[in-house]
Amino acid sequence: MSKPKIVVLGAGYAGMMTTKRLMQQLSTEEAEIVLVNKHNYHYQTTWLHEVAAGTIDPNRSRIMISDVINSNRVSIVEDTVEKIFPDQKKVQLKNGDIDYDYLVVGLGFEKATFGIPGMAEHALSIQSVDKSRYIRNHIEHQFARYHDGEGDKDELLTFVVGGSGFTGIEFVGELAEKIPQLCKKYDIDPNKPRIINVEAAPTILPGFDEELINYGKKSLEERGVEFKLGTMIKECKENAVVVGEDHEEIKAGTIVWTGGVQANAVIGESGFELTKGKVNVNSDLRAPGYEDVFILGDCAWVMNKETGRPYPPTAQIAIQEADICAANISALIRGGALKEFVFDNKGTVASLGGRHAMGTIFDGKKLYGLSAKVMKNVIDDRYLFLLGGPGLVLKKGKFKPF
Ligand code: FAD
Ligand code: NAD
Repeated sequence: MSKPKIVVLGAGYAGMMTTKRLMQQLSTEEAEIVLVNKHNYHYQTTWLHEVAAGTIDPNRSRIMISDVINSNRVSIVEDTVEKIFPDQKKVQLKNGDIDYDYLVVGLGFEKATFGIPGMAEHALSIQSVDKSRYIRNHIEHQFARYHDGEGDKDELLTFVVGGSGFTGIEFVGELAEKIPQLCKKYDIDPNKPRIINVEAAPTILPGFDEELINYGKKSLEERGVEFKLGTMIKECKENAVVVGEDHEEIKAGTIVWTGGVQANAVIGESGFELTKGKVNVNSDLRAPGYEDVFILGDCAWVMNKETGRPYPPTAQIAIQEADICAANISALIRGGALKEFVFDNKGTVASLGGRHAMGTIFDGKKLYGLSAKVMKNVIDDRYLFLLGGPGLVLKKGKFKPF
């Protein structure tokens, strides 16, 4: 009998860690493993706001897949997934089809624009290394245009960020650090640029701890970020957003939408049963109705039994899901009981740019400022260690707090 073929789609947090664990748990004789990804590199999605603001080099966030996954053990396929046919146990890629015995779907997120007119067409978004690098170049281009005396000058140096969730807040924090540097580089009065963060809810980071929210808001305001809270973006135009009940138009040379994410569209196009665009997976992380398909990370709803609501999609949960998914595939191949996924929340830390950060860890202990920033770096370095050992930490890790 031929050995089972495990196909992992997407080399994000979920896909990389599942592949890594499968390599560790199953011998070459037991299973064939294939990892399919759009690019030949994995990227730190959690650093993309820094790439977008230009506070880290785009290459720092990229890790060649073959540097951390043994290509003698795993077939690495650089291709784009177009559709999954779960009834036929087949995946359609841009350059051909691939069949599987077990499938792991970790195709991540894309921006959700909720049908806001013009948002999909005119706003930039932090979704991948390429899209984030584009934002970085666009921002610098606005400074160059301003310095060259082009167009409506104030508008060129107005930066609107739509949404004050974690991505929006972390991004404006980076902008607050980067924009003064660009002012210096282009001989521009540092009081000229405006960073405006627009949020529909009455507070930034809705649902987060109030004390931390107040701390984060104050820290960002002190560094020049303006907030328009309780203000919904109604429309996005080429160089403006229309906000609030009075339909105020804010002209801006840069508009970045961080108003929400949804599962990769491939999931919906492949016929899985969806709940708000994601697959509400069983407690063993399998898609309902498919014993051989696991869906992880930002493509899955994993329910919190205590609250009856799904956990927010994060890298932290994606990495933990990978462990259970790999263990369950090993159990299916070797025989044995499947494990139930239980999320172990280790806390949430948000960077606020430079040496600033805040968050909660473990049992709700609050961290502020430099200690939070150090913790954020520890979290990032821990992941690098899990993925590529001390070598990867030394190559890509963050050691200085800013
Ligand atoms: P991803 O990491 O998005 O990976 C998906 C992979 O699939 C990518 O490699 C992509 O190239 C590939 N892919 C996509 N489509 C295709 C296709 N059609 N064909 C082939 N390959 C494809 N979470 C935290 O826990 N902590 C944080 O500090 C944090 N910070 C964040 C900061 C930012 C700016 C953002 C945007 C998110 C942050 N998150 C954070 C959330 C976290 O990044 C996501 O929840 C996490 O990346 C989800 O992991 P994933 O494996 O499901 O998908
Ligand atoms: P989100 O859904 O968490 O936040 C989007 C924000 O946009 C919300 O506050 C929402 O009220 C606002 N919004 C939506 N429509 C709007 C409109 N029309 N006008 C104005 N505001 C509007 O999305 P996100 O920030 O991209 O985060 C996605 C996921 O990634 C979350 O699960 C988050 O926890 C995770 N994440 C975690 C970290 C971290 O742990 N440090 C960092 C970034 C992202």
